[in-house]
Amino acid sequence: MKKTLFEDARSRLRNVMEYAKLPEDALTYLDHPKLLLTVNIPVRMDDGSLKVFTGYRVQYNDIRGPTKGGVRFHPDVCVDEVTSLAFWMTVKCAVVNLPFGGAKGGVEVDPKALSRLELERLSRGYIRAIADIIGPKRDIPAPDMYTNETIMGWMANEYYEIRREQLPGVITGKPVYLGGSKGRTAATGRGALDVLRRYITREGLLPAELTVAVQGFGNAGYHFARLAREEGFRIVALSDSKGGLFSIEGLDPEKIMARRSQYKELREMLYDDVSICEEAEHTVISNEELLELEVDILVLAAMENQITAANAESVKAGMILEIANGPVDSEGDALLEAQGITVIPDVLANAGGVTVSYFEWVQNRAGYYWEEEEINEKLLRIMDTEADNIFDLAEEKGISLRDAAYLVGISRLSGAIRDKGVKEYFQQI
Ligand code: GLU
Repeated sequence: MKKTLFEDARSRLRNVMEYAKLPEDALTYLDHPKLLLTVNIPVRMDDGSLKVFTGYRVQYNDIRGPTKGGVRFHPDVCVDEVTSLAFWMTVKCAVVNLPFGGAKGGVEVDPKALSRLELERLSRGYIRAIADIIGPKRDIPAPDMYTNETIMGWMANEYYEIRREQLPGVITGKPVYLGGSKGRTAATGRGALDVLRRYITREGLLPAELTVAVQGFGNAGYHFARLAREEGFRIVALSDSKGGLFSIEGLDPEKIMARRSQYKELREMLYDDVSICEEAEHTVISNEELLELEVDILVLAAMENQITAANAESVKAGMILEIANGPVDSEGDALLEAQGITVIPDVLANAGGVTVSYFEWVQNRAGYYWEEEEINEKLLRIMDTEADNIFDLAEEKGISLRDAAYLVGISRLSGAIRDKGVKEYFQQI
């Protein structure tokens, strides 16, 4: 029988236990989520009818601090997915050494099918349903797939209404005018680029020599592509859920985004207007084709399970940068490794978003706000330090970057578990 997403995610824990002497108690704790909440949210629709949407909040582990993680609105959201994402958040916060545990939330909904007012009612309803288990010192939601800063603003406001006080630290990724942090929107893409730059510099490579294909044109994929192009990388392919564009001369993500607001999907856009980027000729490609392009760097910024045993052997890229959570499953990972393809793992590569969320939480709690330059500098410092840690460890132990990242994260989690007292301690009494 095929493993569930969570079973597959959890199997990465066991790999790490082979490389390090970590207390068994750590594995026992980290094998299970602490709290799973399922809620049914009634929403009054614009036509007067009442609809019920199912949502979840999973707090995976809070040993290192209040739990932290985004909320996604997507038709495929289910408890298995939300639990896996909450597990990855736990590891990710430890990998970049933030004083947070991991959580995730989600609502089973196609947000594109709702009006703005319906979306606002649903967002507020979700917060009313989970209000008892969140809070600035308890569990702090944030944006994820198909949620954005406007939605975070509604959610924060709903929480203040319930608690009858302003507690901006309850949610991050808010609009800047409503207590959000400068630099948060681009932070996931920027952090991923910081890690990539660190990696290629070690390898003696230059951005101008490298071609990049990006799967996923959401917030993270777009900002990554935009900033990477500014830095000299050649973005030869981009795609969204409907299909993609290819140009060997390179694409301009900013121009494509500007056009995209006029035409919904990249594919449609190309059919309607052939000259989206005047300087380049484009070819329309499918998402599958994009994954198999001969490029130096394949960036996965869409969703889980994009590279599996079914297509890993067709990947021709030299390396993979995981900006989505869980885009390569464990079988896919093994096959990529056998082909010598380096994978810069999600728990490091996409940690820039939650890192700037941490800065937002700190600013909210202090009531003192920083300039964007300072935020980007602080982000770079964390990403570089933790990336170096992981790259050094992988080299020293001869293990993959994913195993090294898990080793760093799980060691920090184990440290906290050990300090509470483990089997060896209790045996001595
Ligand atoms: N949803 C983002 C992630 O998966 C950000 C979470 C956060 O800022 O708390 O990392």
